[in-house]
Amino acid sequence: MTPRTALTIAGSDSGGGAGIQADLRTFFAHGVHGLVALTAVTVQNSLGVQGFTEIPADVVTAQIKAVASDMGVNAAKTGMLATAEIIRSVAKTLDEVEVGPFVVDPVAASMTGDPLLREDALEAIRTELFPRATLITPNLDEVRLLTGISVVDPASQREAAEALLEFGSRWVLVKGGHMQGTEDCVDLLSDGREYIALSGPRYLTENTHGGGDTLASAITASLAKGASVPDAVAAGKKFIERCVAEAYPLGAGVGPVSPFW
Ligand code: PLP
Repeated sequence: MTPRTALTIAGSDSGGGAGIQADLRTFFAHGVHGLVALTAVTVQNSLGVQGFTEIPADVVTAQIKAVASDMGVNAAKTGMLATAEIIRSVAKTLDEVEVGPFVVDPVAASMTGDPLLREDALEAIRTELFPRATLITPNLDEVRLLTGISVVDPASQREAAEALLEFGSRWVLVKGGHMQGTEDCVDLLSDGREYIALSGPRYLTENTHGGGDTLASAITASLAKGASVPDAVAAGKKFIERCVAEAYPLGAGVGPVSPFW
C-alpha cells in the first residue's frame, strides 16, 4: 500500500539530532514516507553549530517541485531555511505546487545560541511564510524576536498567540517549554477563536537537542494522515514527551531527544 507522504524543507545536522535527520525518523515512526528539500548543510556537534553552507535557492525549489509533481505531498513543514532568498523562493513555489497542510517552525537559532538564519531572514519568514501556514510553532525565544513579547505566564502567552495570528497563519502553537518556574510544560494552541492549553509533564533533562524539529514533524506527519490541527498537535505533544523522557547524553554538550522507544 502506498503510504502518506510528508515533506521537510530544512537543514542537515551532522550530529544527527535535529534538522532533516530528526524529521525523517519522526516521519518514519509515524508510518509516513519522508520527502526532503535540503536548504543547508550545518557543521555541528553536541557543543554547537560551527557553521553552515546554504543550498542555492533554485536547487531548494527544484527539490520541492520534483517530489510534488511526481510523488505528491500530503503535508509539509519548514525547519532551518538559512536565507531570505531561500524563504522567498519557497513561498513562491508554494503558490505553484500543492503540499497540503503547511507547518512553519520559525527556526532562528540553535539552543546553544548559534544562528541558523542569515540576518533579516526571520522577517522574511514572518511576511512570506506565515500567511501561507496552516500552523506556526514558535518557541519563546522566537516569540520574543517576532513580537517583542516576553512570555512569562498564561496571560502573556495568550497575548503572544493573538499577536502572532495577526501575521496571517491559521493556527499558532506558542510552545511553553522554555518558560521558567512552571512545573508543567504548557503549550497554547489557537486559531483566534479557540484557545487550547495543552499541559504535560516537564522532564528534567539537559538533552533536548532536536526537540522543536521533532514536535513539528510529528504534527506534520499526523496532518499528512488527515488529522485535524488540534488532534495532530495533541498527538505531537505526546510523541515529543516520550522522546524527551528518553533523551540520552551523547558528546560533551547537549544530547538529542530519543528516537528509540
Ligand atoms: N540544526 C538544524 C539543522 C536545525 O534544523 C535545528 C533546529 O531546527 C537545530 C540545529 C537546532 O536544534 P536545537 O535548537 O534543538 O539545538
